[in-house]
Amino acid sequence: MIDSIENWQEFDRVHLWHPYTSMTNPQQMFPVVTANGVRLKLQDGRELIDGMASWWSAIHGYNHPRLNEAAKQQLDKMAHVMFGGLTHPAAAELGKLLVELTPEPLQQVFFCDSGSVSVEVAIKMAIQYWYASGRPEKSRLLTIRNGYHGDTFGAMAVCDPLTGMHHIFSHLLPQHLFADAPTCRSDAEWREEDIASLKNLVEQHHQEIAAIILEPIVQGAGGMRFYAPEYLRRVRELCDHYDILLIADEIATGFGRTGKLFACEHAGISPDIICLGKALTGGYMTLAATLTTSQVAEVLSSGDPGVFMHGPTFMGNPLACAVAVASINLLLESPWQERIKQISTGLEAGLSPCRELPRVADVRVLGGIGVVELKEPVDMQIIQPRFVEKGVWVRPFGRLVYVMPPYIIAPEDLTTLTEAIFSVVAD
Ligand SMILES: *Cc1c(COP(=O)(O)O)cnc(C)c1O
Repeated sequence: MIDSIENWQEFDRVHLWHPYTSMTNPQQMFPVVTANGVRLKLQDGRELIDGMASWWSAIHGYNHPRLNEAAKQQLDKMAHVMFGGLTHPAAAELGKLLVELTPEPLQQVFFCDSGSVSVEVAIKMAIQYWYASGRPEKSRLLTIRNGYHGDTFGAMAVCDPLTGMHHIFSHLLPQHLFADAPTCRSDAEWREEDIASLKNLVEQHHQEIAAIILEPIVQGAGGMRFYAPEYLRRVRELCDHYDILLIADEIATGFGRTGKLFACEHAGISPDIICLGKALTGGYMTLAATLTTSQVAEVLSSGDPGVFMHGPTFMGNPLACAVAVASINLLLESPWQERIKQISTGLEAGLSPCRELPRVADVRVLGGIGVVELKEPVDMQIIQPRFVEKGVWVRPFGRLVYVMPPYIIAPEDLTTLTEAIFSVVAD
């Protein structure tokens, strides 16, 4: 029993890894005992307004009655059953929603356990597609710098080689192609040179490229950068012209965060493969999905060995699927576009003053995402407790202080959040 561990925080410090942490020089961890709406309650009773939505996922806030109810109802039916040879209604219901909501050509759904795995699956689909098409030499990937696609080996190989946090493994990774990241933030400032690097690589290497993989419109953990929809349209054209599949990693951007249900909609394009995760279950459980077109699925299935070569133990977990269905329905019934607009306006108003601060290099806002880019990396040991003292939960990395709060955040809580960012960045 956890209650019987007298000093559970001490046990945690000595025995438990946290994301990107050291066992010899552990960071301070803040103990959360409950979470409700946009508030995280610490063990000492303090409440923090959550600016992170638990890394893009808790879009409806915490402890939501509808999501709780969905989990409880499914729990009484079955928590899990293997997906090999068996199926269940929660998976079909979720699959139907995903097929309906994603761009029209995406019809075939593969359920995975995490975002990284959905990227692995997407890459394997692309490679197996060209193998089945009799063009096995098309097995490399092309991506853009500053990307982040996950921590597993296949995903690491397409993360930015410098900011991708994985350089010590680089000699073990397949060598893919990296184009310069676009710099135009909107179509209004579009410059043709922006696509030149990617276009050159495509022209030189298309014979060996299976797919281009990228995060549409918003590059997340690799730099929190936003780019022009025109770039995405050009990438789509190049893919069509040179027989290359397009993989859109919408794990961070999916389910409304950028102001569209999926970021590809900003450019009016459809990828051949899409990766979804993070907000899929409203932050309740780990679940991801990779969708592809009937054409890709049919070709892939027609070649040797006649099946797609992937199948996780917890594929299509019923509990996660049931909560995902509830989360998506909740989102669709809510005025989410209006909420994202309000968050956007609030972030723009609240973070703009940071532009005048000497430490700040840039401030940018898109949809429900606000970024304050500093000139120098933050010292986490110092800055993290300062945010907590201000009553907010913001977790910067490198030179980036950024927030993507739950969609339900009230205007006054958003103001508290942006004021805290301003005052912490100011001194
Ligand atoms: C978070 C993220 C991933 C990895 O997802 P995990 O669930 O952490 O494995 C992949 N791609 C993007 C764009 C992400 O934001």
